[in-house]
Amino acid sequence: MERILTIIIILLLISFTVYGETPNENMVSLTSIISETSAQLRWDPYRSIGELTFYGKSIIFKPDIPFLLMDYSEKSMNLEINRGVNGDIFFSNQAAEIIIDFFALSEAQKNSLKIKAIIIDPGHGGKDPGAIGNYIEDGKQVRLQEKDIVLTVGREVASQLKRTYQDKDIILTRSTDDFITLEQRTVIANEMELKENESIIFVSIHANASLNSKANGFEVWYLPPDYRRELLDESVIENELQDVIPILNTMLEEEITVESILLAQSIQKGLKIIVGDIIADRGLKEESWFVVRNAKMPAVLVELGFITNQEEAGILGDQTHLKKISEGIYNGISGFIDHFETQYSSGE
Ligand SMILES: [Zn+2]
Repeated sequence: MERILTIIIILLLISFTVYGETPNENMVSLTSIISETSAQLRWDPYRSIGELTFYGKSIIFKPDIPFLLMDYSEKSMNLEINRGVNGDIFFSNQAAEIIIDFFALSEAQKNSLKIKAIIIDPGHGGKDPGAIGNYIEDGKQVRLQEKDIVLTVGREVASQLKRTYQDKDIILTRSTDDFITLEQRTVIANEMELKENESIIFVSIHANASLNSKANGFEVWYLPPDYRRELLDESVIENELQDVIPILNTMLEEEITVESILLAQSIQKGLKIIVGDIIADRGLKEESWFVVRNAKMPAVLVELGFITNQEEAGILGDQTHLKKISEGIYNGISGFIDHFETQYSSGE
């Protein structure tokens, strides 16, 4: 009896060792999961955390933690994930199956990934005029307020978008000369109900001011990549995994930042083509402005030009020019939408 027990223990030890170091046929390598799903891998070597992404879906894993986190919210527990001797990572059959099923989108789903809503946010309003400047027209001084020109541009961009994208929600955070707080603006965006395959973009419109009356040009701002936000709901993470939250948030953050940069580039290009000859291009900027950083979605802030520069104020005070500026922004947004919706469709 004792001998049998010893043999069983030795067999258990051997199988444990084999299982732990050289995964057997019950384990599937990360490499083969990637080739089967076409998912992309992002790997954080410092924290040993990986993320697989495919068509906007995400799975996060960490070797030796029995846990997969899907789309930053849903989790699958009691799974085996470990490292092989050769450095590859191995998943139990069960875990591999979960990953493959999760990424197995139908063709219809692939083709339906889209931007559901575009939020256009004209800055300031009501008691808050924003930047103030003036220019001379027909020998008379004309006063110009940021809140007025950004409303004109915002409404024009929104109405052009409505004409083209009848299937999308085009939302203005304000359509009148009313005061709304920065919090209210981002709440409008963040409270929208989205299906899994849907995304929102947020474009805030402002005009610039400077003590230097010569400062001129338009700018497009996006969120800096190193800005950390608490995007992920902590309640979905086990207590023992609390330390990975900042990493997961950074990964989610990166994804949003990439889209924000693409959106910013597209708007910058749109403006440059249409009004580049009259308003200088100051390029892309990154800044953690409140209204941008609180929008959990691709979000940018456009500065149309300098109201404090008399010459530029003259341009910004001209309805024909405002219409052109609006067209530039519209073209930029629509270029981004085309890119986004084709990138995530047709399965190429
Ligand atoms: Zn402003």
